[in-house]
Amino acid sequence: MPLFLNDTLSATRKAVPEGPIKLYVCGVTPYDTTHLGHAFTFVHFDTLVRAMRWLAPERQVTYVQNVTDIDDSILQRARTLQMDWRSLGDEQLEQYLADMRDLNVAEPTHLVRATASIPTMLKIIKLLLEREAAYVVDRGSVFFRVRSVPTYGELSKLSREAMLEIASQQDDADVDDPRKEDPLDFALWKGWSGQPDEPCWESPWGSGRPGWHIECSALAYQYLGEQVTIHGGGADLMFPHHESEIAESETAFQKRPFAQIWSHVAMVRKDGEKMSKSLGNMVFVRELLRNYSADAIRLNLLQHHYHEVWEWSPAALDEAARLARHLATATRGPDVSADIARENFAAALSDDLDTPRAMRVLESVGGETLRELGGVLGLALTD
Ligand SMILES: [Zn+2]
Repeated sequence: MPLFLNDTLSATRKAVPEGPIKLYVCGVTPYDTTHLGHAFTFVHFDTLVRAMRWLAPERQVTYVQNVTDIDDSILQRARTLQMDWRSLGDEQLEQYLADMRDLNVAEPTHLVRATASIPTMLKIIKLLLEREAAYVVDRGSVFFRVRSVPTYGELSKLSREAMLEIASQQDDADVDDPRKEDPLDFALWKGWSGQPDEPCWESPWGSGRPGWHIECSALAYQYLGEQVTIHGGGADLMFPHHESEIAESETAFQKRPFAQIWSHVAMVRKDGEKMSKSLGNMVFVRELLRNYSADAIRLNLLQHHYHEVWEWSPAALDEAARLARHLATATRGPDVSADIARENFAAALSDDLDTPRAMRVLESVGGETLRELGGVLGLALTD
């Protein structure tokens, strides 16, 4: 049974193409604690990988996730805390990895730091300059020329006005930078500001540091090649991040599409608003893990399809905790209607990873079958 996933770019459901699967997912910027919105994204992709391996064990899945360990938000936060930016990143990354481990999220095949791929970024920027899709300005910065890509905006389907509005709200907003040809152009390389606490690397255009989007184009290329099968991330990354990754990678390598399937995970809401640092309405994974098992938290997340924007509530988490205990008990019960359950479970997962439907199948089985199918959703099912 082929696995169908929704593709944001074509706005259609696509079968995951034959052959090895190359999955790239945008990871965290380690400057603050993991909240439930992050957990929804990473538990989802962890479940997708488990499901792909269970549905077709012969297919090779390579899962790459980046760590944006150099970024304006890390530098700003380090300055506020009067900390070294590298120590802040290391500390927060440790915490994120511990949170993921405790949620039974398996490590990707390659979890890679952006700062480990500076030479690849420089190589791509050179290619973009050769193709006149980028330009160097004074003080050693390089910008991507958005007008060189007529399809820019095809992923998010936003108007130019809407793109400008969102671009002006980014942490590193530079729409007014007079050195740019077009306010939508974005930095591939940021020339060193001269501030002693700002890290920099050598480049043909002078010392500086990479822009955010080029980090993912470089890591995807370095670990997976010029094209990927599935590119994922939170829905809030669609613009400008993913839109810009497409522009960079397709222009540099002259291969289209950069990703066969674009997969986006919806935002989790609390108090009627998207859970986010700027609004301060976050629920932290670490705090939930004090009172709830990984199974309870995973069931709480997976009872929502990844496309669904949903409102987090403590009552629903309590309900998920009861279900986790019930399922753990049922693993000691009889193994009933195993074949039909396996078929229904596979059908649910193949249908755009319909985890709420897959969870209902779990409630109809017991014994070893329940343990096996629960494992596909990353559940330990122990008391
Ligand atoms: Zn990314």
